[in-house]
Amino acid sequence: MAATNGFGTQKVPRLSSLDASRADLYGGPNVVMPPKHLMANSDAHDMAIEMDMAKHHLEEEVSSEEESPLEKDSPFIRPATTTADEFALAFDIDGVLIRGGQPIPEAVEAMKYINGENPYGIKVPYIFVTNGGGKTEAERCADLSRQLELEVSPGQFICGHTPMREMAEKYNTVLVVGGEGEKCRIVAEGYGFKDVITPGDIIKTRHDTTPFRKLTDEEYRNSRERNFDDVNIEAIFVFADSRDWAGDQQIILDLVMSKQGRIGTRSETFDEGPPVYFSHNDIVWSTSHEHSRIGMGALRASLEALYKAVTGKELTTIAFGKPQLGTFAFATRLLQQWRKDTHGIDRPPQTVYFVGDTPESDIRGTNEFNESHLSDANWFSILVKTGVYQEGTIPRFPPKKTCNHILDAVKFAVQREFDRREDSSATPAETLGGYYMYKQYAPCGHLMQ
Ligand SMILES: [Mg+2]
Repeated sequence: MAATNGFGTQKVPRLSSLDASRADLYGGPNVVMPPKHLMANSDAHDMAIEMDMAKHHLEEEVSSEEESPLEKDSPFIRPATTTADEFALAFDIDGVLIRGGQPIPEAVEAMKYINGENPYGIKVPYIFVTNGGGKTEAERCADLSRQLELEVSPGQFICGHTPMREMAEKYNTVLVVGGEGEKCRIVAEGYGFKDVITPGDIIKTRHDTTPFRKLTDEEYRNSRERNFDDVNIEAIFVFADSRDWAGDQQIILDLVMSKQGRIGTRSETFDEGPPVYFSHNDIVWSTSHEHSRIGMGALRASLEALYKAVTGKELTTIAFGKPQLGTFAFATRLLQQWRKDTHGIDRPPQTVYFVGDTPESDIRGTNEFNESHLSDANWFSILVKTGVYQEGTIPRFPPKKTCNHILDAVKFAVQREFDRREDSSATPAETLGGYYMYKQYAPCGHLMQ
């Protein structure tokens, strides 16, 4: 068992196991709820195997980057020997760590900071929670590992469509929308969906489905022509941003107005079609462009407006991702498993700092989750100015703290934890012990006091 040394840290060797359990995703009193059966726990076995495979994949991808970053370009002499166990970090990615495919300038240093290159020589466990998607979790982690110059494991990563894997048992034939080429079909099949149809399959089979949309040669080759006469599409999943709004919306609209998802049919009441799930609901997101770009939430709004214009009725769709409380509950369990498997910490943190750039998803979700009965830990929201947030505006969902960038955010979190322990000097000897230990061993004399 790991020994506690105070200041919420443990002397723990980093373990190799990356097994991560899966648990129920949902349950929060939120605006959209998944079907009830999804609230049951699911089998951890498949996920554990996948995590392990992803780990091997990742080791190949990043092996050249695995030498300790502490040995290079570090202003500190002593590598981290302790892990903070009373607090943890969770990061959004786009607009916080990455923008337009490139790391935000302070991101690499921030990652080094929380991996031990700080005045305290501590490591802080962390996870990533992004609404983005369109690739497998392992692929996205390999990208992130290269961009941030450190290893990122699927065991510490949730993207927008990760919760959709839970639906593979419920639906047999599904339409998967969005993303580059065939990638989302591959992701969906990897999640266990048995019969995955894409808009390309429908256009290839019936080319006048979308009058102005022609498949490219590559799309035509990859798409699967089939007889849809006896096929019922049971659910529609928008995994990633649509590359063809007009065509995709036409096909989704046809299906939600159909009889039980049978292509070519039309319901008289327009309410017999399959449900539509979106992997998140962000209206805008941060890219290399100076202004935010519209995203999946905009497609959702557009689709619902179109349905109303055509049928006169309201369309109810379902969105995952932040700010849904289920996503934060999932993040809690992932963090718990990650801390246990890699740091030997088998209890929840007191505080989780969530760093994001979008008030409507990151900050709102963190604040609401903190106030919900679902959270044992305190979830503390930090807004950074490197993404969609506009300087000078007042966010509709105010954060507990605003920082210029990710490096300021992680320094703030560590400093706040240090100050809290310093302020509680009448508390258990363990805390004081930790405090003195840090006074004694802090490298370079960089005590933050
Ligand atoms: Mg973001």
